[in-house]
Amino acid sequence: MPSQPRNRVGEIYGRLTVVRASGRRTKSGNAFWWCRCSCGREREVPGDKLSKNTARKKPVITACLVCSRELQVEGVCAKNDREERQRRDNAERQREALKGQVPDSWLRLPLTDAHARELGQVLFFRGSCCLRGHLAPYRINGGCLACAGQKPSAHTTLRPNNTSSAERRS
Ligand SMILES: [Zn+2]
Ligand SMILES: [Zn+2]
Repeated sequence: MPSQPRNRVGEIYGRLTVVRASGRRTKSGNAFWWCRCSCGREREVPGDKLSKNTARKKPVITACLVCSRELQVEGVCAKNDREERQRRDNAERQREALKGQVPDSWLRLPLTDAHARELGQVLFFRGSCCLRGHLAPYRINGGCLACAGQKPSAHTTLRPNNTSSAERRS
């Protein structure tokens, strides 16, 4: 017989409030608890998934199924935002180093694909070379303008001043 579980009714875990015990047990004998989410839905959660220790490795449940899914989506968005900010920071740094070596108009372009979309523009300039070694603005969905034959690469003017030889090995 599994031991009587600690009464968790009234305890709060994230958006969930434990409302009553469930008769179910997990294979290892943990009791399930019915919890009400802040959105009003209920979810049956095994006791070992209810924890306030957010540092632990084991996954915890802190919301109903619907809200959990939403929280997961928010998590992905936050990660994408972080990565996009990183890309823009990098682009800004690279462009800073290119001042005077590429047309000023390029340095006024949006920083990334997503930045261009945000501003309703079609061109952006990250200050980095395309796979074929051109230094030129990009068109959203279209790639490097030098590859497309629409703009000359800035490489010829850039080369003498460019101290980074790493990308030039080919
Ligand atoms: Zn919910
Ligand atoms: Zn190119």
